Amino acid sequence: MSKYLILAFSAILLVGCKATIYTQKEKNVEYQVSEANVASTLQYLASDELQGRDTGSKGIEKAANYLESILKKSNIKPFFTTYKDTLSNYENAYNVVGFIEGTDSKLKNEFVVLGAHYDHIGITANGFEGDYINNGANDNASGTTVLTEVAKYLGTLQNNKRSVLIVFFSAEEKGLHGSKHLAKKLKDKDVNIYSMLNFEMIGVPMNYNFKLFLTGFEKSNMALKLNEYAGSNLIGMSKGAEKYNLFAASDNYPFYEEFKIPAHTLSAFDFSNFNYYHHPKDEFEVMDIKFMTTISQEMLPVVSKMINANTYEIKMN
Ligand SMILES: [Zn+2]
Repeated sequence: MSKYLILAFSAILLVGCKATIYTQKEKNVEYQVSEANVASTLQYLASDELQGRDTGSKGIEKAANYLESILKKSNIKPFFTTYKDTLSNYENAYNVVGFIEGTDSKLKNEFVVLGAHYDHIGITANGFEGDYINNGANDNASGTTVLTEVAKYLGTLQNNKRSVLIVFFSAEEKGLHGSKHLAKKLKDKDVNIYSMLNFEMIGVPMNYNFKLFLTGFEKSNMALKLNEYAGSNLIGMSKGAEKYNLFAASDNYPFYEEFKIPAHTLSAFDFSNFNYYHHPKDEFEVMDIKFMTTISQEMLPVVSKMINANTYEIKMN
């Protein structure tokens, strides 16, 4: 989550592995989200080896290579000539963009963009107990990890009617540059985007009667539709998120700006439930793997139903 954008709205409030296997069956193809897989992806992305994934660093390059290899293994092609799409608006940075072509002759011309930023703020002078690496486990190795699970699932099934872009954004922490670059590039190519869904800070559960909130809740019917697809009260509205206008603080926003389509962020962080925002203690050890696994599992049919809806079910209010 980008501090620059949130600070405009708020004085930051500093408040606050087991091996269950879940199975998702569809069309006789099976994909399993396991706590072991979730933990291993998250642990690597948030490891000291990656040095906090600062844009332009060697650490973020390792993260990009790792994400690229996940797309390849999942039979997801690059959308551009290579998986790494160099930013036009920020130095030494690239998004990693995968593409799964739709199977329906008409609907494949409509795109669903699924995103998560994989950069973080790197090494900073503000250390904590001698630790200067901001590992960004929650922000946003967690959302990135959930998106890798969704990608593996869609890549395994290959039965999405609409076309899908899986996007790992860079330079989010510097001011949403990765998403600004891609939204503009897709607009220039006249790509028809149905919806954009972004995953951000999903590593620690909240104390509400829903598991995730959707930013800009009332701008479209997306939350209501996704709950309908989930068959449960999975997604709610966070008053904190609305108050701090988190809708404008993550990579969904440039897609809303360019296309005026339903473009939102799903998150479990609204400054009420995690004390280590942009802090060296935002580490793997304080993440809730079970929660992240449950979220990944529950999102699979939800995302699938959004991608495969026969009509424009999700629209602006
Ligand atoms: Zn952040």
